[in-house]
Amino acid sequence: MPNQPRFLDHIDRMTGYIPGEQPRQGQVIKLNTNENPYPPSPKVLETIRESVTQDLRKYPDAGASGVRSRLSNILGAPPEHFVVGNGSDELLNVILRCFAGPGDRVVFPTPTYPYYDKLIALQDAVAVPVPLDDEFNIPIDKLVQEDARVTLLANPNSPTGIGLCVDQLGELAQRVNGILVIDEAYVDFSQHQAIDVARKHKHVIVTRTLSKSFSLAGVRVGFAFASPDIVAGLWKVKEHYNVSSLSLVAAEAALDDIGSMHDHTKRVVATRERLTQQLQQRDFFVWESQANFVLARLPAGADQPGDARPLYEGLKNKGYLVRYFDGQPRLADCLRISVGTDDQIDGLLKAIDEIRSQT
Ligand SMILES: *Cc1c(COP(=O)(O)O)cnc(C)c1O
Repeated sequence: MPNQPRFLDHIDRMTGYIPGEQPRQGQVIKLNTNENPYPPSPKVLETIRESVTQDLRKYPDAGASGVRSRLSNILGAPPEHFVVGNGSDELLNVILRCFAGPGDRVVFPTPTYPYYDKLIALQDAVAVPVPLDDEFNIPIDKLVQEDARVTLLANPNSPTGIGLCVDQLGELAQRVNGILVIDEAYVDFSQHQAIDVARKHKHVIVTRTLSKSFSLAGVRVGFAFASPDIVAGLWKVKEHYNVSSLSLVAAEAALDDIGSMHDHTKRVVATRERLTQQLQQRDFFVWESQANFVLARLPAGADQPGDARPLYEGLKNKGYLVRYFDGQPRLADCLRISVGTDDQIDGLLKAIDEIRSQT
């Protein structure tokens, strides 16, 4: 009998994370993974091109000092408060490796970012999902009552687009005992941010990313903001060369041209408001989003709740990919639509009208 490879039990039990579809061919309009429809700053592309040199034989700066000094200027806190990661996903991973061991409870509202489940399972920790309330608001009291080792909160949340305001974030930080992670992947599209909360409370970690608002999902750069003590601990755990040289220079250039990001986010927010109104006019229920996507609930049928799958498939046939949440009963009548350009959204609305006039 040859040796059978034997995985650790908790890895064997895991189901893999299923990322949003990334079709490689065809004329698909991707409105399913909350990428930015606008390009990165031209300075980013220029800087990457200039950095494709012999110097790539060298390891990158493990301290990401260029990125951290820029973050320090932008957010008004010393560089010791920042750690840079290979996307904010890596930092979420590092945070759980630091703070959640086998059997430790990790609480989070649900539905939310599905990657949290995977990270918790990887640690052999215990996932404690707390359902959003009937209106999909975040249940602060219940999160606090769970008194978990780690509390994870995407703010604004995905797939709902709604989140806590600054005062509520402060209240949560005040009342939660363990580590509170506030995942601000969509913060630049929102009016509420938690950096000040993390300045005040040493058990709070804020994570952010350049993937969404800076149009750099392919470059994989994110960062965490926390007290210097926490940052020093995360630092020990992360891969030392976790961010490539090309990604570091891209991030530096993106931060140097932050105006480009602000212009694009303003456009996305304006389109988001228009998309919301247009869907409401078509009798969808749309949650008031603070992110670069909207969650829309189909109008209920005469005697049954709506089912979003036929519309999702109809749109896919017409070349519009949106997010349908297979196997999630609370979202069975909902679609999450990333905000594209105005033209893309006009096309999407037209496709919706065509599909609905046929049924
Ligand atoms: C997109 C997203 C992330 C991942 O960001 P990366 O920096 O690309 O790893 C993290 N959290 C939430 C809620 C997201 O939607």
